[in-house]
Amino acid sequence: MSADGRNGRSGGGKSRGVGKIIAIEPAAGGRRASSAASARLGAAAGFDSVAGTAAHYLRPGSLQLAALPPLSLYIHFPWCVRKCPYCDFNSHEVKGSFPEDDYLDALRLDLEAALPLIWGRKIHTVFIGGGTPSLLSAQGLDRLLSDVRTLLPLDSDAEITMEANPGTFEAEKFKAYRASGINRLSIGIQSFNGAHLKALGRIHDEHEARRAIEIAHANFDNFNLDLMYALPGQTLAQAGEDISAAIASAPSHLSLYHLTLEANTYFAKYPPSVPDDDASAEMQDMLQERLAAAAYAQYEVSAYAQPGRQARHNLNYWHFGDYLGIGAGAHSKISFPHRILRQMRYKQPKAYMEQARLASPVQEELEIAPAELGFEFMLNALRLPGGFAPPLFAERTGLSLTAIGATLEQAEQRGMLYRDHTIIRPTELGQRFLNDLQQMFLSDE
Ligand code: SF4
Repeated sequence: MSADGRNGRSGGGKSRGVGKIIAIEPAAGGRRASSAASARLGAAAGFDSVAGTAAHYLRPGSLQLAALPPLSLYIHFPWCVRKCPYCDFNSHEVKGSFPEDDYLDALRLDLEAALPLIWGRKIHTVFIGGGTPSLLSAQGLDRLLSDVRTLLPLDSDAEITMEANPGTFEAEKFKAYRASGINRLSIGIQSFNGAHLKALGRIHDEHEARRAIEIAHANFDNFNLDLMYALPGQTLAQAGEDISAAIASAPSHLSLYHLTLEANTYFAKYPPSVPDDDASAEMQDMLQERLAAAAYAQYEVSAYAQPGRQARHNLNYWHFGDYLGIGAGAHSKISFPHRILRQMRYKQPKAYMEQARLASPVQEELEIAPAELGFEFMLNALRLPGGFAPPLFAERTGLSLTAIGATLEQAEQRGMLYRDHTIIRPTELGQRFLNDLQQMFLSDE
């Protein structure tokens, strides 16, 4: 996979630190739906009618949202050729083949069941993540996008991104993806160094990395490269070679991730020797300087873009926008005038497909308590060095900014936050100690 969507805790629900779907896990203490409500939720089936389902979510509540946020669609594809030793995403080794038709059937059923929750709302961006969605056949991807277009009103200039693994690039297939409507790729290059790719357990080598970029250039004018650093045995000079190769390949967007040894991965059990904190901090400073010198502006913790090429899908996560996530293990955040919901679909592909056939793919649902909304908003928005315009807080949460006023003041006094009437943003100190800054807003719950 590429990790372009992780930090937004995409519907995919990962976050490399967020992204995946930063991951904004359901906020601690979030009110879980009762089991009866969960049962209703997984499926419109618990209601007598589509109108009944919609009425359930539209009923009065304590929240007052003046307008609903922009809505994105995330589609999760849960298979990979092989599981990478550092990966904690919802991805499963293919072991021969995967049930493409059955999975596409399930996605369509999932989407149909979710329609009453997003009735009449336009989709501004689509992100197909994984896993390795570029394992889909050209016909399969075409069918998927046709189903999306048939069932949902897609904005005419919607950004439609697909994650792609360099080990799966075939020129004809990617040409067909483009013809079907994919207009942005996110390519999981990770490194241009053959030995490091091997240490990461990637299925591609440095030649395939370069070939993938050639094919991307031939078909797409907008693509992201994921690059990882602090790799096993990596030196500062080698990290410099990687960023030189990445910049020379002229992507419109770059995502930069520190390799982390996540729990429940092969690397957590058998940790490789990686650069220490000082060495990796030096790498990070060098990489950021090189990107700035090449006119890639940082607009999020891990994201850098050429002018006008910021990832619109991910920005919607960081602006606390809405997303419907379909597919195995996908997460959703959906606003209604008087409540905001989070949902998670069944994680195992087999269970997910079975439940989708029963019109009940949602395993968990919770309504975000109003007291948690300030923290949830800030958890996302503080990832943006450029911050946010103050009115956005009330637009997305239904709360007055005074709900977090004391903490804003405290963070300002500590030099971690800057604010005036046009902007609220983390300072350099706030960016450096982002976790601490985010945690301060937990106290507002
Ligand atoms: S390609 Fe590797 S890192 Fe990406 S989702 Fe698959 S197993 Fe995880």
